[in-house]
Amino acid sequence: MPTTNAPFVLYVYRCTVCGNAGTLHLPESAPEVTTACSACGAEVRVEWDGGVELTTNEPE
Ligand SMILES: [Zn+2]
Repeated sequence: MPTTNAPFVLYVYRCTVCGNAGTLHLPESAPEVTTACSACGAEVRVEWDGGVELTTNEPE
């Protein structure tokens, strides 16, 4: 039986090839997944955003 009642949470990725940043909504139970960059198609690792809103703050 598919887990249709699993909560979906926001995942984010940053492509290391082209720098594209994207978001996905995946089931909360997905621990660590990869997807294809929507811009260049490279494989990127998607990370749980922690359920908070996206910020543009990045350490330099
Ligand atoms: Zn890319």
